[in-house]
Order: sequence, then structure tokens, then C-alpha cells
Amino acid sequence: MKISVTASIAVKISVAASLATLAGAAVAASNPHRACCAALAADTQLHGKVFAPNSTQYDAQLDTYYSANAAQHAWCMVLPESTTDVQATVKILTKEQCPFGIKAGGHSAWKGSNGIAQGVTVDFGYMNATSYDPETGIVSIQPGARWGSVYEFLNQYDVTVVGARTSVVGVGGFTTGGGYSFHSNSHGFACDMVVNWEIVLADGTIVNANSKKDADLWKAQKGGSGNLGFVTRIDQQTVNGTQLWGGFTSYDLSERDIVFDAYLAFVEATVENSPDQIIVALYYDFTGFSIRSIMTNNQGIANTPAFDVFLSLPNISSTVTSGPESEIIPQFTGPTPLGLYANWFTGMATNTLEALTIIDELHHEYAGKMQAAAPTSNFSTLIEFQPVTNTMVDNSDKRGGNVLGLERVVADGPVLMWLVSLTVDTEENQEIILPIAQEFVAAINQQEQAAGHFIDWVYLNYAWGDEKPYSYYGQANLDLLETVSHKYDPKGVFQKLRQTGFKFS
Ligand SMILES: Cc1cc2nc3c(=O)[nH]c(=O)nc-3n(C[C@H](O)[C@H](O)[C@H](O)COP(=O)(O)OP(=O)(O)OC[C@H]3O[C@@H](n4cnc5c(N)ncnc54)[C@H](O)[C@@H]3O)c2cc1C
Repeated sequence: MKISVTASIAVKISVAASLATLAGAAVAASNPHRACCAALAADTQLHGKVFAPNSTQYDAQLDTYYSANAAQHAWCMVLPESTTDVQATVKILTKEQCPFGIKAGGHSAWKGSNGIAQGVTVDFGYMNATSYDPETGIVSIQPGARWGSVYEFLNQYDVTVVGARTSVVGVGGFTTGGGYSFHSNSHGFACDMVVNWEIVLADGTIVNANSKKDADLWKAQKGGSGNLGFVTRIDQQTVNGTQLWGGFTSYDLSERDIVFDAYLAFVEATVENSPDQIIVALYYDFTGFSIRSIMTNNQGIANTPAFDVFLSLPNISSTVTSGPESEIIPQFTGPTPLGLYANWFTGMATNTLEALTIIDELHHEYAGKMQAAAPTSNFSTLIEFQPVTNTMVDNSDKRGGNVLGLERVVADGPVLMWLVSLTVDTEENQEIILPIAQEFVAAINQQEQAAGHFIDWVYLNYAWGDEKPYSYYGQANLDLLETVSHKYDPKGVFQKLRQTGFKFS
């Protein structure tokens, strides 16, 4: 039995919007660069689903991007409502040789990660339904859904999913890029729990890729992001229970070393399939620096022995509590304002005190430089330390493997994945501050290298546009991506016409 719900956005095409669409299409037809939009708008299947600039739907979608850098003004946007719509779209994009971008939840931050300026944005925002089959325990999620809506929907069945740690993040980009979750120690990445991908290929064919059929595509899509086709449905094995214990605990900055030591020891002591996870976050804004931890237990069990050291540390405040994921995760989400100038960078280092200290000290130095360069700017920086552990990678392998290439990375034990996030209030201030942030990131890599702590791996879902995550995934995985791409997309549509996101080639 399948039970389904369509989250959030009901698709209502107003008369005014349809007129705007037609007017847009007419303009498009007179401009060779915009012939693609005219062809899309003229298609019967896509009637009322292609939106030109200044239409209500187009403007509303621009407001759904997490980062203003990514919210690009496309020639037009296609908002498919079904897999058949996606088929019609890809056939036209291929026939007309239209450059295109792929957007699901729009939470990648860099310019060119999801929306496109010189081309057509295929925006999955209206394909956001979730359905569940209690007999198989499999949840089917459309790529435009947000994780918050998925958690809420699954509460009634007392199950949850390996999904994002922030409710507003989109399912499409998160899962196809890997997907680090509060369940990653115990189950692997979100992509590892995918038992079937429904994918519309470049020639319009619909494929269901799983361990039995088109298994090469199934595996390559686990980390393959937008390289192989349009993913139109994600069937994921669920996890029993909905309870999560967790929250923020803030510490005085003078406790930095003992918090770092507690983090390192916790990571080293991670047991197989552990439900316990840790993040340490460093923050800066105009109020100053702060440090906090995020402790979680994905079975909702409070104060497990793994957290003994953390729980014994003196703290300033703590929000740690238990409840369904649908209630606890919004706490981590916070206000997450849309439309600010957000920028994310990532890298890897050894799980050592020196590696953490290098980053913290550079953070103090460069946040000071940023503040001095743009004294009136309202900006913030967030550094997160989170581990990639052996049990995460073992869980990936147990479930058929993915293309992230983490096996060699954890060969000597757990490692540190760091994230640097910079959020700036205006484009003008970003122009001043971003180059300093880029120097900061380069200095991290350079100093980690000099100290022998640098690890050459970059997580696609956190990466900045120039970080080339696929170059670290290993030759065997690149070979698989190449073979699968040639087999399922022989004309290379998703390598040549797709302009957004990361390419493996
Ligand atoms: C506040 C916040 C919290 C986050 N928390 C986490 C976290 O806990 N764990 C984690 O791992 N990451 C996290 N991220 C990073 C997140 O995983 C990426 O930003 C991810 O891309 C977001 O998914 P999306 O659907 O919003 O992607 P979008 O930005 O819409 O798309 C990104 C790319 O994904 C690909 N893609 C999207 N949809 C499809 C599709 N249907 N078919 C084929 N390819 C597709 C395309 O290449 C696209 O260019 C977070 C990001 C933010 C902003």
C-alpha cells in the first residue's frame, strides 16, 4: 500500500501568470539565444510549466535559493510536475541544444551550482511529494522535497530517513551528492540508503536503477550528482523510530582545548554502527567568537557513555533534548535566512589537535581581517568540524558502495572534515570579504600540508565551485562514472549542455 502527500507548494497556474508565460515565450522566439524557451513553452505537455522572467512563478522560485549568489536569472525556468514533464523537457533541451541548470532545493551556495544565467533552469520545486510503503519500509521522495517535510510525513509510521541535519535542505542535491546525516555512523550516507533511483536519461528514457537492474547506474548515481540524468524519484530504505537526542552546547572560549580534545577522543572511540555523533562548531559575527558542540544520538537516548567527557565539561548553555527528528532538527536549522550571500568551502585533515588548532587560529586571524576590511558589514563565519569515520564508509560498502572514494581516506582511521561557511549581507560587502575568505581557505590547506595533516579529499555537497571534488574520488570511481555516462548518455548531454554543479569529466 502506498500513502502519499504533496508537500508545501500547490501548483496553481493563474490566468495572469499564463499570460506572462506566453508573453515571455513570444519574446523568447524573437531572440535566438532564447529559442529554447519558446520551444519549451510551445510543448503541449509543458503548457503552463515554463516561466519567463518577471512572471510570478519565476520570481517566487528566485526567492527559494539559499544563497543570493546561486539565484541566477535564467532565460526561463521549467517547473516540471511529473516524470513525464521531465521527459518532455529533456527531449527539447537536447534537440535545441539548450544549456541548462538543475535545481532541487536550491541549497548549494556558489554561483553556477544550481541556477543558470545563460540557459534554462530546470527547477524541481514543484516535484516535492513523499510517499511511503509500510510493507517494504521504502519511502519514495521527489527531488524537490525538503527534508523537514519528509521527516514530518514519516512520523505517523514511526520511521525516519537518512536525511539532512537541517530541515530546509533539498532532497535532490543532498542525496545525489552523498548526504551526511545524523544516521551516517549507523547507516552510511543518504545515497547509501537509496534502493532505487528513477532517472530520466538524456534521450528521455525513464530508468529505474537498483541493485538488480542497471546496477552500474544505481551505484554511479550514489555521488554522481547531476552527471548522469535527471533524478525524478528517490526510493530510500527507512530507519525504524523517529527519536533524536541532541542540541547545541556552548562553551567559554577558554575551554577550547578541552573541547577539541573531547572531540578528538570521541571520534577515535567511535564504535561500529554507533548512533552517537558529534560536531564542533566555531562561529564569528559582530558579537565576537563562540564555540559549541552538537551532540546527537539517533535513537533518542540521552547521555550515552560516549558523551561522558562532553557532558562533564563546564558549559555556558545547552539546548540538548529528545524528540522526533521533525522537532529537533528545526532547532539546528535556526532561522537559516534565504537570499544572503552565502559561500561554502571544505577540506580534510587528520583527526589531531594540531589540525584543529591550525584552523581555529587562522579563523581568528582572518575573521579579524574581514572585519577590518568591511567594518560596517553584517557578516558571519561558521567553521564546522565533523568526522568521516570507518563505520560510515563500511556502511556505504555494505549497501553496495558509492563513488565518493572514501575507503582510502579512512584507511588509517577517522579523519576530520572541515567546513568554512561565510555569509555576507550585501554583494558589495561580499566583494571585499570573499577574497579574504578564499585566502583563509588557501591558508588552511597550506598550513595543514606543511604540518603533515592535509588529506586530499573534498566533499561535493560542501564544496566551492573551484574545489573539483571528483578529482579526489579515485580512478576506479571516475572510470565507473565515465563508463556509465557513455552507456546512458552517449551524446554527453549532462557533460556538455548541463552547466551547473560539478562535472566528473
Ligand atoms: C543550511 C544547510 C544545511 C546543510 N546540511 C547538510 C547536511 O547535514 N549534510 C550534508 O551532507 N549536506 C548539507 N548541506 C549541503 C547540501 O547537501 C547541498 O547544498 C545540497 O546540494 C543541497 O541539496 P539541494 O537539493 O538543495 O541542491 P541544489 O542546490 O538544488 O542542487 C545542487 C546540485 O545537485 C544536483 N541535483 C539536484 N537535483 C537533482 C536531480 N533531480 N537530478 C540530478 N541532479 C540533481 C545538481 O547537480 C545540482 O546542480 C547543507 C546545506 C545548507 C545550506
